[in-house]
Order: sequence, then C-alpha cells, then structure tokens
Amino acid sequence: MAVLQSFFPSSIVHCSLCVAPGILQRNRPLKEELEKIREECEATLSLAKTEPEVSEIRVRVMGRKGSLTQLLKQLGALPEVERKEIGRKANEVKESLEARIEEVLLQIQERERKESLAKERIDVTLPGRRVATGTRHPLTQTLDEIIHIFSRLGFEVVEGPDVELDYYNFEALNIPKGHPAREMQATFFISEDVVLRTHTSPVQVRTMEKKKPPVRVICPGAVYRCDSDPTHSPMFHQVEGLLVDRGVTFSDLKGVLTVFVHQMFGKETKLRFRPSFFPFTEPSAEIDIECFICGGKGCGVCSGTGWLEILGSGMVDPAVYRFVNYDPEEVTGFAFGMGIERIAMLKYGINDIRLFFTNDLRFLKQF
Ligand SMILES: [Zn+2]
Repeated sequence: MAVLQSFFPSSIVHCSLCVAPGILQRNRPLKEELEKIREECEATLSLAKTEPEVSEIRVRVMGRKGSLTQLLKQLGALPEVERKEIGRKANEVKESLEARIEEVLLQIQERERKESLAKERIDVTLPGRRVATGTRHPLTQTLDEIIHIFSRLGFEVVEGPDVELDYYNFEALNIPKGHPAREMQATFFISEDVVLRTHTSPVQVRTMEKKKPPVRVICPGAVYRCDSDPTHSPMFHQVEGLLVDRGVTFSDLKGVLTVFVHQMFGKETKLRFRPSFFPFTEPSAEIDIECFICGGKGCGVCSGTGWLEILGSGMVDPAVYRFVNYDPEEVTGFAFGMGIERIAMLKYGINDIRLFFTNDLRFLKQF
C-alpha cells in the first residue's frame, strides 16, 4: 500500500478502493494548504519592492513560526505513507519558493544598482567651475612698472621704516624744527621725536649714511599725512630716487626723468620742467606732462592749465650732504619723488584715490 501510494499520481489518492476515507480527508486539506501557501507567497513576492520586504515574506512562510514550518510540524501526526508524500510535496514547495525568493532578491538588487548608478552618474561634458584668480593691485602694477624702468637705468631698490625719527624725516633733510616747510606736510606724530614718515626721503639719508658715492637708488613705500579727500589719502605711496656721483648735473636729471616719462606714459608725451621749491633740493623743478584728456587745451582734470603735475625733483641741496659726511665740493646729485597713486590715477583714468583702498572687487578686477 505504501509503495503504491508513493508511485501513483496524487489523483489516485481519491480512489476509495485503495485509500481509507479518513486518511483522504486529512491528506487533502494539507496538500491544498501547501498549494495555498505557495500561491500566496508567490503573489506577495511579485509585489515586493525591497529586500526587507522579501525577508519579511521569507520569515512569514519559512521562519520558526512561518506558515510552511507550522504545516510541516503537523506531518509527524500523519501515518508514514502520507507523511512521505506530503513531506515530498512540502519540500518541493519549499525549494521552489526559496528559488523564487532568490530570483526576486536578485531582481531587486539589480534594479537598485541601476537606479543608484543613474543617480550617481557624472556628466563629464559639463563645464567645470571657474576658479577665480586674483590679479595684482593696480598700485602694485604701477610700482612694478616704475621699478622696472629705473632698474634698467641702473637704480637699485632700497627700503626704510614707516615709523621714523623726526631727525631723518625732517632735520637731516634741511627742515629744522620751526621751519615753515614743516607746515607743507600735515604730520602724524607718535611722540615729539617720532613720526609716521611723511615722505620716503628719509630712506635717502639712511642710504647715504651707510654708503659712499656713487649712489643710485629708488625708495618705494607707504607714507602718511593727515589729509583725506577724493585726491588725498592719509596713507599713500611714494617712490623717491637719488643719484649722487662726481659731476652730476641738472641735464642728467632732465635726461633720466625724460626717459622715465616717455617709458611710463608713451614716447609722444610732452613734458615740461617748472621751477619749484623743496627744502632739500636747490634748484628744484616740478615735472608736468601734457593733459591727455584735453590734449593741452584745458579741462576739469588739469584745472584748465593743459598740464598735469606728476613729480618733484631737484639737485640735492649741499646742506643735506653735511648730515651724511659727503663733501659737496666733490660730489653732486639729484633727487626726485612721485606719488604712486597719482601716477596710477593718471595712467588708468581713476578719479578717486579712495578706490585704491576700499577693496571693491568690481574696481580691482578691471586691472
Ligand atoms: Zn586737461
């Protein structure tokens, strides 16, 4: 009987001749139950979208308290014949469901992989973000250009302190205490004898103290005056120059500064030397260039004169040599000085000196 049942298709179980009716009744619901579990499981699996959902279904069916596990527990109570048949059937259902679960898991993993690849895709044809590069400040550019011109004429760059002794800023430059020339420069005093330098001329004195002629230097740097309006800033920059040697004459001064003006503003630039006064030079001259806005006719920029003042100069006053132990009988020389802001304003057509110091990128980016 057992042999028969295991070899015949399940329909034969319905035969009332060979199987006892009691067994048939118990057998059928279990088989149907198995099919029901299989169908339900497959239906829910086909709806599962994520791995946790699949795991949950697996637990619900094949976990310790799962429907299939519970059903298998009932097998022990069956007669051996049925136990084998239902057992085989249960194994088949279990295996097919496990295979189906694996299949669904693979599908989910594949879909998730594709989704994440699509999300993380990098478009290499997109233009990159532009890196903002800085430029040199217009004052630095102007100073570099001035230094370049004078270094080709054999001048060397020297620097000195911003906080200066009254002696170097005034006295050694032939401006003793009480001299009216001190009024020309509204000075910031740190103490009675210490000032913020009002010009870079003290560097010339310091250089001559250390070095015997020939001297050929330019001294760039910040200077300070108690003054503030569209054309004056309490801190601004100067470049001063000094050339001392045997037999230096005013024509050397004219030659050097003419070369400078032509290189800085163009070969066609007209210039003139206008007599002036400085306490530390004699004779003294200011240099004007023809106004390039009006071409010399007179306009608002040149105050109607047709000329723009760009630098001061003169032959070093012999009185200055006494402070540095040079012999005025042996050497002569000339000095000159200019404001870097003023040169930059003229060169680039800037009308307010304060623009240089407010760090507005819209302004600075133009250079
Ligand atoms: Zn003009």
